[in-house]
Amino acid sequence: GNTTPSLGYILSLDLGTTGNRAFVFNADGKIVGQAYKELTQYYPQPGWLEHDPQQIWQDTCWVMQTAISNAQIAPSAIAALGLTVQRETYLIWDKTTGKPLHRAIVWQDRRTAPLCHQLQEQGYANEIYDRTGLIIDAYFSATKLRWLLDKFTDVDLNNVLAGTIDTWVLWNLTGGIHATDHSNASRTMLMNLKTCDWDENLLELFQIPAHILPQIQPSLGVFGVTDATLLGAEIPITAILGDQQAALFGHGCDRPGLMKCTYGTGSFLVAHTGDQIVRSHHQLISTVAWTQANLRGTLDVGYALEGSMFTSGACIQWLRDRLKLIKTAAESEAMANQVRDNGGVYFVPAFSGLGAPYWDMSARGAFFGITASVQPEHLVRAVLEAIAYQVLEVVQAINASSSTPVGRLTVDGGACENNFLMQFQADVLGIPVERPIMRDTTVQGAAFAAGLAIGFWESYEALVQQRQIERVFEPGSDAPLSNFATWQKAVKRTLAWEE
Ligand code: ADP
Repeated sequence: GNTTPSLGYILSLDLGTTGNRAFVFNADGKIVGQAYKELTQYYPQPGWLEHDPQQIWQDTCWVMQTAISNAQIAPSAIAALGLTVQRETYLIWDKTTGKPLHRAIVWQDRRTAPLCHQLQEQGYANEIYDRTGLIIDAYFSATKLRWLLDKFTDVDLNNVLAGTIDTWVLWNLTGGIHATDHSNASRTMLMNLKTCDWDENLLELFQIPAHILPQIQPSLGVFGVTDATLLGAEIPITAILGDQQAALFGHGCDRPGLMKCTYGTGSFLVAHTGDQIVRSHHQLISTVAWTQANLRGTLDVGYALEGSMFTSGACIQWLRDRLKLIKTAAESEAMANQVRDNGGVYFVPAFSGLGAPYWDMSARGAFFGITASVQPEHLVRAVLEAIAYQVLEVVQAINASSSTPVGRLTVDGGACENNFLMQFQADVLGIPVERPIMRDTTVQGAAFAAGLAIGFWESYEALVQQRQIERVFEPGSDAPLSNFATWQKAVKRTLAWEE
């Protein structure tokens, strides 16, 4: 029940890797306005990737204002704002001027691989995994923050604030609240997964002064209100989630046995594990799904197992922008369908090293099996097949970590639009792949969370049940599994490439 008729809407922000979007939802959970803006990617060196925090903030304002004006509603009619962001990306800024000291270091950035190797050699892998659930990798924030602090050694840290993108945008939205939520904090490699607080041993290991870090709060709960001058109304910010956790929430995956896969810049398979930390012995990471304070005043924590694959949709962008084999991402589907098979070509999508289940920061991408008869269509098809093989490998790891095998896969993200990819995925997995009508599950999840946190909506089940499946891709009988073995052989040849 929407109790106050004048407060009939939820504003949801999804600040992603490739772009920033805002959606306005009405009380029925329907989208009534939206806006999107692509984000500039800075590649200062091979393997490095940066974003301009000022651009993220300006575009956030623009998409919010545009979505509200498209919805033709008054900002004062918005009951709450939900915020979901690309995870791990890290920045530091000046508390007084509000200016970032450096561009944000994006999650895919590999510049801190040497420091990670050093930590591995010093034998910290087990301790870090035990405390954080994470595997030492340049992906996570801690080494990025260390790199930034090493760059600005002459700066007075009493005047510096640090944070992930949610923290940066919350600070700007509220005019100075410095906080984050457990799902984002669990990706920094500085939060203890059991205590759900900054881990003193790790702060010491990385030499991070605690006072520059944000306060960690429940994912669903009041973080503050938007500065009245921004939108002309003080809108409470009532949910913050990492993008993959928001998608998990949006798909209704709130207990063991439920999982989703998002095919965006990278692919992220996330399985809810209830209130227990489940440890995989197959190179999956353990992380926070989301948290909420309960009526007893303690914290309800939901955990998850995750297989993070750094590069998937980004390969399609690369085919489009760099190789120019396709004009639009969608064209990759028709091209793949123009050939009967991959022509013997295999692709390894290791642009930023490999995540689950290899965790090799030194791997680099490759095409294998090139002969004189190979056509552009084969290359495009090999790239799409590789996206599906990566997910197959992670599903196998999830199956090996749990007693109930994965029975079906629910999907979202930009690349799930690709019917060839989804059918191929079902074929190699041997299970149905379900695609919902509403594909923007990330932004929807943040909206659900923000609305539920303040009682704008009462029933999570009811919201989840409204979601409809657009198409189920049933597995075919002729799954080419011998090709998977060949693909794995290709992957092995790219490992430790940069060492
Ligand atoms: P993110 O949240 O990581 O920014 P999105 O979920 O917005 O990513 O998805 C964008 C990605 O999806 C891009 O990398 C793009 O190449 C890819 N993509 C979009 N449409 C298609 C398609 N039809 N086939 C394959 N990939 C696609």
